[in-house]
Amino acid sequence: MLYYPQPISDLIDGFMRLPGIGPKTAQRLAFHVLSMNEDDVIGIAKALVNAKRHLHYCSQCCNITDVDPCRICRDPSRNRQLLCVVQDAKDVVAMEKTREYTGLYHVLQGAISPIEGIGPDKIRITELLRRLQTPEAQEIKEIILATNPNIEGEATAMYISRLLKPTGIKITRIAHGLPVGGDLEYADEVTLSKALEGRREL
Ligand SMILES: [Zn+2]
Repeated sequence: MLYYPQPISDLIDGFMRLPGIGPKTAQRLAFHVLSMNEDDVIGIAKALVNAKRHLHYCSQCCNITDVDPCRICRDPSRNRQLLCVVQDAKDVVAMEKTREYTGLYHVLQGAISPIEGIGPDKIRITELLRRLQTPEAQEIKEIILATNPNIEGEATAMYISRLLKPTGIKITRIAHGLPVGGDLEYADEVTLSKALEGRREL
């Protein structure tokens, strides 16, 4: 981006670090920023910095949060007998939108993928095991494995179910019917509710 003044090249380079944004889109976004009013630009810049500075992972469920424990973990109205294991924070939002699920969550922050070199130690499985040994976890009667219905998600669900077998806690897997290969976050609320309803024991 030698042809542009440095501040614009920096902005274009910045946008290009984001997923799914190539040089053309980055250029378009950078010029759009120039045409915006200053308050809006400052608002976006502040939101970026705030998100990075004030969000961290919940010490109980590993979801992203600005308070610890997160709002779901500390909510007394949640059903503490149910624990739903999902891949990431966006899946929690998808599950919450169904309004069918009132239990707790555990966010793995990924899925096992040998192809991408992501082993079980790279996702939050140790945290899940540790959590199950705490006094609060003794209330858990069922663990629902709601990882994505693709190869990585299935492998992760199988791995965790084998690991948790000795605990004697009922382990279930959300039903198929979700588009295979798709992500939980893109499933509509009705499909996801049905998948939850039709879960089977592993
Ligand atoms: Zn939490």
